[in-house]
Amino acid sequence: MMDMHLQTMTELAAGLEKGDFSSVELTQTLLDRVAALDDRLNAFVTVTAAEALLAAARADAARAAGNVGALNGLPIIHKDIFCTRGVKTTCGSKMLNNFISPYDATVVEKLAAAGAVVLGKSNMDEFAMGSSNETSFFGPVRNPWDLECSPGGSSGGSSASVAARFAPAATGTDTGGSIRQPAALTGTVGIKPTYGRVSRYGMIAFASSLDQAGVITRSSEDAARVLGVMAGFDERDSTSIDHPVPDYLATIGDSIKGLRVGIVRQHFDAGLDEQTGARVKAAIAVIESLGATTVEVDLPNIDLSVPTYYVVAPAECSSNLSRFDGVRFGHRAENAEDLLDLYCRSRGEGFGDEVKRRIMTGAYVLSAGYYDAYYLKAQQVRQLIADDFKKAFADVDVIAGPTAPSPAFKLGDKVDDPIQMYLNDIYTIGANLAGLPAISVPCGFVNDMPVGLHLVGPHFGEEVLLRCGHQYQQQTEWHKACPEAFQ
Ligand code: GLN
Repeated sequence: MMDMHLQTMTELAAGLEKGDFSSVELTQTLLDRVAALDDRLNAFVTVTAAEALLAAARADAARAAGNVGALNGLPIIHKDIFCTRGVKTTCGSKMLNNFISPYDATVVEKLAAAGAVVLGKSNMDEFAMGSSNETSFFGPVRNPWDLECSPGGSSGGSSASVAARFAPAATGTDTGGSIRQPAALTGTVGIKPTYGRVSRYGMIAFASSLDQAGVITRSSEDAARVLGVMAGFDERDSTSIDHPVPDYLATIGDSIKGLRVGIVRQHFDAGLDEQTGARVKAAIAVIESLGATTVEVDLPNIDLSVPTYYVVAPAECSSNLSRFDGVRFGHRAENAEDLLDLYCRSRGEGFGDEVKRRIMTGAYVLSAGYYDAYYLKAQQVRQLIADDFKKAFADVDVIAGPTAPSPAFKLGDKVDDPIQMYLNDIYTIGANLAGLPAISVPCGFVNDMPVGLHLVGPHFGEEVLLRCGHQYQQQTEWHKACPEAFQ
């Protein structure tokens, strides 16, 4: 029963199956860790200890009755963007600080139906806008590898929790990199599936044409296990795609011999920290040693992905967040003089600076007279970027490169410089604009801080990403390293 917290989901599943420990014992162990150690990280907004222990007891009873779901008794954490019935769902904002969801998101429902045990809700950038977890109303999350550093964002509570061994898996969402960048910065695995692969129902919307749910784990194998449960068609999400979900675990052990790996020249230019680039190149060499071949591919418009994203995402956010007005949803200002005063003060008090910046940018690019110049133009460039990927995937099976331009930066370093912050997603945003699946896998350390290898696949290419990540992790030990203060 020693060291349960260090085990992957796959190992824990085997332990539960053999009866080495019960889900109640496992859940209690992890809850004790959270109670003792989360002061240092601030990774949780809400810990649902009582509910977790009940769910664990139910999972143990189900197992005794021979009724074992795919994640039976295995602990997870949900990013606080997923609606959870009867539990506070804040989206990292004062706006929703008192919101108790009356229903479960599809992701929450599916994981619960598979027997997973939810330990709580993780801290995040406000409305998932950020790359450092510093825009949260609940304060920044700290990186378990260095408490002075950011764990990435916006799924920083999820990435920090998995790196600190609070749970083997945590859900996340990725609009421009918010699963993969925090995974890279904390030495964890993060997968963002194809747009439409996982239901967005009950996931609070930021930019609807880009948002996609995924998972952060410590191994590709665990990511395969959880994604297999999360994925699938949902008639409650009109952009959900009715495409069969393969058994990701069934093929994860297959060879990657003959795999064609694309390398994008622009991903290794001056914007990339040299040592990070060296670790990523070494990781690609490991993949080559397993029988893959590399090919240079061209994505001529990829340099436009950040500016394109920062028109499209704010435009959609300004529309999505209009519902938080103190009347229909969200924080309501007290003693309003009239309706306009109520709207202005409720939104003024409820939203933080970054969210306001995005709403204003979005309203501007959508306004009459500017729509063609900004929003329409951005949509056209988005199409060019998607076409570039499509051409590239005619010649390669995956595209490999760095997840983020450098290891984790210090809290406070970029928070006053939005452009520097936005550039942290320079390698991840393209996959969102094109709707493609992508994964980040730990590939080494720079100055004792983790860095990640980024693999992008064609639409519905999750299987090859997970398999490639798994084969790489069979050859390397990076993902087994645990931050000293959290062993
Ligand atoms: N960092 C990007 C942003 O601030 C991406 C966020 C995300 O993927 N949710 O918008």
